[in-house]
Amino acid sequence: MKHTKSQKAFQEAQKVIPGGVDSPVRAFKSVGSDPIFIKGGKGAYLMDVDGNRYVDFVQSWGPLIFGHCDKTIEKAVIKAVKDGLSFGAPTKIETKLAEKICAMFEAVEKIRFVSSGTEAVMSAIRLARGYAGKNDIVKFKGCYHGHSDSLLVQAGSGAVTFGTPSSPGVPADLTKHTLLATYNDIKSVKACFENSKDIACIIIEPIAGNMGFVPADEKFLKELRALCTKHKAVLIFDEVMSGFRASLKGAQGVYDVVPDMVTFGKVIGGGMPVGAFGGKKEIMNMLSPEGPVYQAGTLSGNPVAMYAGMASLEKLIKHSFLYEEFEEKAKRLTQGLKDAAQEHGIPLQIGAIGSMFGFFFNANPVKNFDDALTSDTNMFAKFHQGMLERGFYFACSQFETGFICSEISDDIIDETIEAARKVFKEIK
Ligand SMILES: *Cc1c(COP(=O)(O)O)cnc(C)c1O
Repeated sequence: MKHTKSQKAFQEAQKVIPGGVDSPVRAFKSVGSDPIFIKGGKGAYLMDVDGNRYVDFVQSWGPLIFGHCDKTIEKAVIKAVKDGLSFGAPTKIETKLAEKICAMFEAVEKIRFVSSGTEAVMSAIRLARGYAGKNDIVKFKGCYHGHSDSLLVQAGSGAVTFGTPSSPGVPADLTKHTLLATYNDIKSVKACFENSKDIACIIIEPIAGNMGFVPADEKFLKELRALCTKHKAVLIFDEVMSGFRASLKGAQGVYDVVPDMVTFGKVIGGGMPVGAFGGKKEIMNMLSPEGPVYQAGTLSGNPVAMYAGMASLEKLIKHSFLYEEFEEKAKRLTQGLKDAAQEHGIPLQIGAIGSMFGFFFNANPVKNFDDALTSDTNMFAKFHQGMLERGFYFACSQFETGFICSEISDDIIDETIEAARKVFKEIK
């Protein structure tokens, strides 16, 4: 497979864009190769500037649950574009999309749209602090909640991949309010409440996707719920990734736990830049202009993005049976990979919920971030390179999650497993 045009494009990009990319993980650093530059996508496939084709298990890091160039979403976007790109004034489609989401989630009585997951979470944290009248937040090691200052502490994938768990430029004065706990370990959360009487909220990826794929135990989430209620802290589920991915209702469709606030992103924009945060009325009513907690955005609720999101969600609701198919395919893929790896003595830990899947090059089960870090990242890098050369585009880090979209067939999955079998043989 030739990559000369991608290599040239990367060199040119590096002259004017730091690292040649607009988001660090795209640089492929942790897998020791150069990124491929994309020309376009179609269904399950990505095409690069050299004319190579890849099965896409990244799907723009989650949003493209119907694959590339889905006709329904494309049509909705083109129609919206013709009415104007942005008004900075309310449009009815925002209310319609809000109604749709509120009707689906018990925890969400009101919602506000923003332009990214980072913005959604940052705003949710501010609102939770304003509502609770407290300053500290609890987050879990390995969970990623976007790149805002107070959340950039032990923040999983991108940060770990580059060996800088926290970032220069983030004042310690800010992160001192961020208390760290261990995923799936309720004792570590109780310790936070013993150390601080000032905890405004707990934020968690209820199905973690940013330390690799690590679902929470249901008992753990229930205990978090109880602790938050007891200490009058706001429980925030960050479902930017798992929302409409793990199930139609995200993790809230998988676990019997109702949070106080929820953040969304990725799938709800159908590939356009959208984020959202919602929750109980009494919390959301604290938000400006109804309440005192300030939050705003020039392009928030952008009509083109709203129509893309609406088309995406309506199609998912209509085809909700898809989630079972997604999970069957995700299990077929991960089990196939595990079996193929085992043939060559390579241990693999696997998992899948709905359209999300993951695998760790690890002999032991992975329940938290420290476990994830014991995985063989060298082996992962070789696997990634081998698969890429054979036309299979996986997330370029051991600490990311893979995605199934509706365009990925059983045949494609079997081809993927066959290719992996060859790669395992090479790299064992
Ligand atoms: C991707 C992600 C974010 C950040 O969203 P952006 O749109 O990249 O800013 C936040 N939380 C979780 C759980 C995510 O997966």
